[in-house]
Amino acid sequence: MIIYGNSEPRRLVSEMIKKKREPHSIMIHGEKGLGKKTLARWIAAALLCERQTGEPCGICRTCRMIADGAHPDVMVAKANSNGNYIVDDSIRPIVAEAPVAPNEARMKVYIIPDLDLSVNTVIQVQNILLKVIEEPPEHTAIILTARSKEIFLPTIISRVLSLGMTSVTEAESMACLQEKYPAVAPALISEAVSAGRGNIGRCVEYLEHSQFFDSVKLARGLCDAMCGGNEYDVLKTLFAADGKKTLLREGLSLFQEILRDSAAFRLGGESEKSVSCAKEGAKTLSRSLSSDQAVRLYDIVSDYIGRIDANCNISLTINSLAGQIYSVTGK
Ligand SMILES: [Zn+2]
Repeated sequence: MIIYGNSEPRRLVSEMIKKKREPHSIMIHGEKGLGKKTLARWIAAALLCERQTGEPCGICRTCRMIADGAHPDVMVAKANSNGNYIVDDSIRPIVAEAPVAPNEARMKVYIIPDLDLSVNTVIQVQNILLKVIEEPPEHTAIILTARSKEIFLPTIISRVLSLGMTSVTEAESMACLQEKYPAVAPALISEAVSAGRGNIGRCVEYLEHSQFFDSVKLARGLCDAMCGGNEYDVLKTLFAADGKKTLLREGLSLFQEILRDSAAFRLGGESEKSVSCAKEGAKTLSRSLSSDQAVRLYDIVSDYIGRIDANCNISLTINSLAGQIYSVTGK
């Protein structure tokens, strides 16, 4: 199994396995696209690998089966199409089966991904799992993943090994994409990396023209419109996302990253620390936007993301946001 970056959480887990103090309850948190599920599978392979060196050997039958998603002792819980876990279908069975011995490996691993997307049952799921997490059977491990650590109950947080994901370097993103897409032209790979930076999941989405591709277009479009100082262009760019709630939301949060970069450039920050999908755009924007204005815009956009989450009418939200942006930048 090839894995890029995040060497610190992997080192931690490896050390624990080597010392025969393997973790049984693990929580992996970090933003979308950073590889939480990949790390969960890596940990499962490290726990079950026949060679028991602390990390997956990648060669033994167990490692190969896990990499193919075909090992009977590594189970990934499934949520419904809205992201919610139906507890009677997918969570209570885990608690019931946890004490049962593994099929063939030395341990069995349950992976419960994207718990934060299970908006309706996020608390219930944790309460049901608490018993297994408090006293995990010797041969059972549970790995939870979520974008934010904040959704976890304190009783869960205090009992799990908590692993935070970080971005990889752009060179690692590049290497990963080249490996995954050997037939894609290097120029396209570079373009995807300039959009997704150290978030491999985002780079992949960009390359495959998924929603992230359009979100980047929206965020860069907003940045360009603001550099041009034309209120109508801001409105027109935003209206490309009319009726598309998740696109507008993601585009706006990417635009916030551009604003953050812009403020940092204005204050003479290091360009290496920029995080946004439009490094050059942020630099241009910083020439016409004071850091104070950038911060005010950032807060306004946060407020409007909250309105989108609260299901406010998208067209009205767009109109109102464009007006607010103009009130900060208009001369
Ligand atoms: Zn192995």
